Amino acid sequence: MVVTPMALDPKRPNFNGLTVPCYRYRMAKGPRNRAAKILAAVIFVAATASTVGAQQCSVKPAAISLGETVRLQCEGAANNNIATARLKDRTIKMFKQPDGSWHGLMPVAVADIPGVYSVEFLAADGETIDAAKLTIRPTVFPTQNVNLAPQIEELKSSPEEIQTLATFRNTVSDKKFWDDSLVAPVSGCVLSPFGVKRLHNGKPTGESHAGIDQRSAAGKPIHAAAAGEVKIAQPFTVLGGTVAIDHGQGLETMYLHMSKIAVQPGARVNKGDVIGYVGATGRANGPHLHWLINVNGVPVNPRQWVTLPTCGAAAAKRAPAAKR
Ligand SMILES: [Zn+2]
Repeated sequence: MVVTPMALDPKRPNFNGLTVPCYRYRMAKGPRNRAAKILAAVIFVAATASTVGAQQCSVKPAAISLGETVRLQCEGAANNNIATARLKDRTIKMFKQPDGSWHGLMPVAVADIPGVYSVEFLAADGETIDAAKLTIRPTVFPTQNVNLAPQIEELKSSPEEIQTLATFRNTVSDKKFWDDSLVAPVSGCVLSPFGVKRLHNGKPTGESHAGIDQRSAAGKPIHAAAAGEVKIAQPFTVLGGTVAIDHGQGLETMYLHMSKIAVQPGARVNKGDVIGYVGATGRANGPHLHWLINVNGVPVNPRQWVTLPTCGAAAAKRAPAAKR
């Protein structure tokens, strides 16, 4: 939810609920009005002081699980100073919105440590302007085994591929293309959720699933989850046919294992545009769509952004008595 701040129209109430011209009352001359003048001056000073000091920064939601994203927002007359926000050693950029408020997306990684933290809002010179409490809940991620043919399991990314992906992940652009809400790129149920600890052919990989796998037949169109600019559209050894989109202000999505890519790097896409087709290229054991969301360079759970059923859940609901 976006809170719209009050307009800075001189005829309208300002952030303190006072009308701006209220301290410009014409005073009648003479000692009789000295007290009124002093009172007016005190009100003006108090109003100015509270305007300068009034930072109202918030984190929403105030409690989240590992792998989720927190919306940061600042309101207030002196909010021109807000430049970044910090959670432990992670610093993200805050962006001024058309309504005058400042927004940022703070990711919480799967590997972060649950607890209660302070999110600090910082000026460009590093001074802390405001702070808000964030609770990271303990989160259990199950283990999942994936069986892969030996020649598929052996696939490795080249140094150039790793560099291309790192550059994409670490670039945050100022222009915002996206808006709430995102759309699911395909309609299929979730075969493999975000964050599960992956085993390949029974052996732990030490990796957790950095996106979600959605069921989809080969050749089905894949839609952009939000508007943005295509940064990568090429085959990768492990990821297969890949499209990566920068949605701006810290939000990125990637779509993997495509049988066919339908866009070029540099293309501007709208939410829902077809960007490619479902396949099983790269390290995949069959056709499906693996897609992911990066928030300021950290993979986060797409199911905080789009609502998707888990495969099998509907069938289990229909036949609750059946033992599986
Ligand atoms: Zn996957």
